[in-house]
Amino acid sequence: MDATIDKQTFLAAVGCRTAGWYTRRQPKESPTPGLEWQFYGGNEVGRTARVQLGDGLMLPRSPQHVALDATARALAIPGISLLFEATFRNGALVARADVLRRAGRGWDLIEVKSGKETEDGEVKGEYLDDVSFTALVMQRSGVPINRCSLMLLSREYRLGAPGDVLVEVDVTDAVLARVAQFTEMLPEIVRGCVEEEAPPPELKIICRKCEFFESECLGRGIDAHIFMLPGLSEKRLAAMKPLVDLRLLPADADLTDNQRRVFEVIRSGEPRVSAGLAQLDAVSWPAYYLDFETVSPTLPWFDQDGAHEQHPFQFSVHVCDAPGHVVAHHEYLAQCEGDWRRDFVERLLDVLGDAGSVVVYTDFEKKVLNAMANPFPDLADRIAMVIRRIFDLHAVVKSGYCHPGFQGRTSIKKVLPVMVPELGYEGMAVNEGNSASGVFGLMRVGVYHEESVEQHRRDLLEYCKLDTLAMVRVHEELLGILRSAGTLKTRRGT
Ligand code: SF4
Repeated sequence: MDATIDKQTFLAAVGCRTAGWYTRRQPKESPTPGLEWQFYGGNEVGRTARVQLGDGLMLPRSPQHVALDATARALAIPGISLLFEATFRNGALVARADVLRRAGRGWDLIEVKSGKETEDGEVKGEYLDDVSFTALVMQRSGVPINRCSLMLLSREYRLGAPGDVLVEVDVTDAVLARVAQFTEMLPEIVRGCVEEEAPPPELKIICRKCEFFESECLGRGIDAHIFMLPGLSEKRLAAMKPLVDLRLLPADADLTDNQRRVFEVIRSGEPRVSAGLAQLDAVSWPAYYLDFETVSPTLPWFDQDGAHEQHPFQFSVHVCDAPGHVVAHHEYLAQCEGDWRRDFVERLLDVLGDAGSVVVYTDFEKKVLNAMANPFPDLADRIAMVIRRIFDLHAVVKSGYCHPGFQGRTSIKKVLPVMVPELGYEGMAVNEGNSASGVFGLMRVGVYHEESVEQHRRDLLEYCKLDTLAMVRVHEELLGILRSAGTLKTRRGT
């Protein structure tokens, strides 16, 4: 194996030495549409930064020895003052600098990010770590650094209005402090990354979101693990360590009510119904099951929009006049050209009519509806009326029904296969929101071949339709459970 330690491996190892070892050996997989869309946004921002910074020399990125040679030669030419994509290597460490700007006898290091500057000027820790790793490798390669900064998307920028898209934020002090910390960790990180065996894992709160937890590391082969407890805090986890198997947790462990409910359900293998399920009685029929898909282009598409503005581009609505009894299905998928936003809202308002519950899963649709009124104040009253009819099925599941198969989660993707095993997202070309967003974004910017566009549109329609059908069926199942509990008074036509 090549002895290289790149930024991704190094930063993974900063959080956990074992994760660094796994990251270095991780096979490259083809990116999901959601990730491709993210890369597209990053590249767009990179191009914008280069335009904003002015003429500079773009260096080759690969193969590595060519990139290193080209960088060394460019650094030595006094007339070159702006470099893009310079590559550095020190020992096993390899880094690439987005931008280098000559400043006296040294260089300003600039890292370009597709995130927005924050209101309070705080910078994300992961951004600081990114630029600190590059600074570490540059310093160790003997390249003097004057200043470190991040180029972030401006909060003020609006499409069609004057002003720069990107702003530069000085992070020199924070980066130099972080470089000192990285320097201390360096020998241990390098040793851990190149060893034959993975460094011994240690349970900690970051394991919860670690991509290796279930596939390779501590959670492997354990079907009920500690992170199935919802909202597990670092403090509580510390008290339970090193226990990973939830079933081995002592019965009197210190847990919140919700955690205890999940723990007892998983341990007993028996689902539990709670009083919250009776909220289902508040649904009035006909019920409109509504789901949106949205896209957030990194750089704005519509006049007066800022960066990362979120736009719904698709809806699915199943209409039922009684539990599980579908009488109509409506769907909308925006064309990739032009501005569809008003058409979207008007079609949606027509479909939803003016009576009956609008059933959603989580408060996402409510937030999107609220934002829809901004560009179209003349439709604000009608949108507000729809919002008043919203009924959140997720809130009912959260408070009213716990099944061991949910594994402590309540997302529709977890709940559906347990409650309605014949329906599922497996095998679908688009099977989660990020992919839907990515597919639409990539279609809109013309990345896909024309011949494949119709298929992508069908995939999107199929996915969104399943989201609302899933709600119809989960709702029906929950009502069946409530009926068995003997507490339901179903209202029709109210
Ligand atoms: S699961 Fe935890 S110990 Fe294992 S690699 Fe991930 S963060 Fe490290």
